Amino acid sequence: MFVYADNAATTAVSKTALDAMMPYLTDYYGNPSSLYAFAQKAKEALEEARATVASIIGAEPREIYFTSGGSEADNQAIVSMAKFGALKGKKHLISTKFEHHAVLHTLKALEKQGFEVTLLDVHEDGIVRLEDLEAAIREDTALVTIMFANNEIGTIQPIKEIGELCRSKGIPFHTDAVQAMGHIPVNVKEMNIDLLSMSGHKFHAPKGVGVLYAKRGLPLFNIIEGGAQERGKRAGTENIPGIVALAAALKESVEHMEENTAKIIPMRDKLFAELSKIPHSKINGSLEHHVPGTVNMCFEGIEGESLLLLLDSKGICASSGSACTSGSLDPSHVLLSIGLPHEVAHGSLRLSIGEYNTMEEIDHIIESVPPVVEYLRSISPVWEELENGTRKHLI
Ligand SMILES: *Cc1c(COP(=O)(O)O)cnc(C)c1O
Repeated sequence: MFVYADNAATTAVSKTALDAMMPYLTDYYGNPSSLYAFAQKAKEALEEARATVASIIGAEPREIYFTSGGSEADNQAIVSMAKFGALKGKKHLISTKFEHHAVLHTLKALEKQGFEVTLLDVHEDGIVRLEDLEAAIREDTALVTIMFANNEIGTIQPIKEIGELCRSKGIPFHTDAVQAMGHIPVNVKEMNIDLLSMSGHKFHAPKGVGVLYAKRGLPLFNIIEGGAQERGKRAGTENIPGIVALAAALKESVEHMEENTAKIIPMRDKLFAELSKIPHSKINGSLEHHVPGTVNMCFEGIEGESLLLLLDSKGICASSGSACTSGSLDPSHVLLSIGLPHEVAHGSLRLSIGEYNTMEEIDHIIESVPPVVEYLRSISPVWEELENGTRKHLI
């Protein structure tokens, strides 16, 4: 049986998205910047997609900029606010320790250019505390960037309250909402969000297309220079098929959010309930404030990478953390940020399921994981030490 359980890494393109984009690959391939009537089809599709995305998140069409994905949107939002702040002598940026690398590495680059960065601790439940944010805010804070939902452990942050606090202090607030869009309600007006990033391939659109929302009046600086596309803020001929697909996929996800959630939650709960029966295992992050589909657990005494390889041989696609960290031997920065010791963080498993999964697939995972964990423990020197008492159990 083949089970795709890595929807936080990427998702399958939906039929709706594929059908919507197809005419713009085959028939209406004009460049939206061209003046003849033929190209206007593409231009119209672009503006319709912009209006669709805007209305879904409670924004105005002119506040929507299409990008190449979530990473580019994060980069542009953060760099823009840093530059804007610097013009007024504000060179302090606030974020958290468990952001996606698109945020953390952008902040690191800015640090090298003379900005000061405060990364807030994330508590054991995987949620940032407002009082920690309030204590970190300074006169010269130029930006607060805190992700909506975490990509590894699925925890949801108190975005509305964070936005309210930032607004009361006059500080722009950006959120990487890549893992939230299409899965939980997001409204930039109600939630006091000034800038927001999303990525199409996390909600059944193709890879390589995303959105940056920036509240009217906030200055954006270009990451990509060239033509005057996207109101002069993002050069490059627009990815019309991708943009059309993104809007169609987002609309579909939002329209079916309740029924998708109702389908996913019982599958996720069964996974948690059954896999928690494995001795010396632990669920990572709060289950109370959590996106529907992400399950993150640690199993003591084993390596997450070996677990993944053996699960792969049983047809199961899973992850031990973010795709960007896989391949390196460091444990996930997210799991370390919520206070897991290195040894425990190494034995992590992320299963991210979606509405395309079935209960039969969940049962296959539930049948496959325990014997694999047991086998890996049987050959693990660390496990032997844990069992004979020379090493102390941490979970
Ligand atoms: C996937 C992801 C990104 C990157 O999006 P791309 O479109 O792949 O560049 C950024 N942030 C989070 C939280 C993600 O999960």
